[in-house]
Amino acid sequence: GQTSAPGGAGAGGATKGAGERPEKIVVEGLRKSFGDNEVLTGIDLTVKEREVVAIIGPSGSGKSTFLRCLNRLEDPTGGSIVIDGADLSGRKVKIDEVRQRIGMVFQHFNLFPHMTVLENIMLAPTQLGKCSANEAEQRARTLLDRVGLAEKADAKPASLSGGQKQRVAIARALAMEPEVMLFDEATSALDPEMVGEVLQVIRDLAENGMTMILVTHEMGFAREVSNRTIFMDGGVIVEAGTPEEIFGDPQSERLKDFLAKVL
Ligand code: ADP
Ligand code: MG
Repeated sequence: GQTSAPGGAGAGGATKGAGERPEKIVVEGLRKSFGDNEVLTGIDLTVKEREVVAIIGPSGSGKSTFLRCLNRLEDPTGGSIVIDGADLSGRKVKIDEVRQRIGMVFQHFNLFPHMTVLENIMLAPTQLGKCSANEAEQRARTLLDRVGLAEKADAKPASLSGGQKQRVAIARALAMEPEVMLFDEATSALDPEMVGEVLQVIRDLAENGMTMILVTHEMGFAREVSNRTIFMDGGVIVEAGTPEEIFGDPQSERLKDFLAKVL
């Protein structure tokens, strides 16, 4: 970014404690257009193993499009994305394999309504032949326990609260044993009293060393849980730094304006 704070928006930007860790995600010059509308106009970002990056920014700034490009739910129009050494734009890359290594959780939970909670979590690992049905069930139960929903294994999604559904969605993403987790406004569709239980699950993942990119409008959470916070506006990274820098010492007028509105 042109006005990046110390800490750096660009490739190789320093993050507290992440110095020697391998690079997990390297994005260079990422562009994405929808027709004439260029939504991402050149994103550079390197995320190291075990790093937690929070992305904040106004609605329409391209945050979701950026995450969707990382998972190849959208095809970028330019630039490169390398995940764990595999170039997603390379001809030889198997997108399905890469996608299995990247879990994604959305604002709306997208659980399959006709399946039980357990079946939702077991579906991808069994369908993709990752493991036997027995193993998948064991792992699903362990994950349900981890998100505090062991007793809901046989429930249908419709009987769950929003917070419970989102915790199931997180367990389902974890069932593929991803190396990276992407969260797109995972708490924005929740009633306020359910936000905390979902943030707690994300916090646990961070403490256990999961590499994560979180798009969030929970500023307090971004500040608490991220190693690095990125401010996007108009399809670019305007400013990036430690959460202390971004929230405590914003440099650009755009970030100052944004924080004045949301804090
Ligand atoms: P954010 O997540 O920061 O709110 P988005 O990435 O959702 O922003 O959207 C950025 C811009 O891209 C918006 O102007 C939006 O209308 C446009 N956009 C997103 N997805 C599509 C799509 N599938 N087709 C056309 N335009 C899109
Ligand atoms: Mg969005």
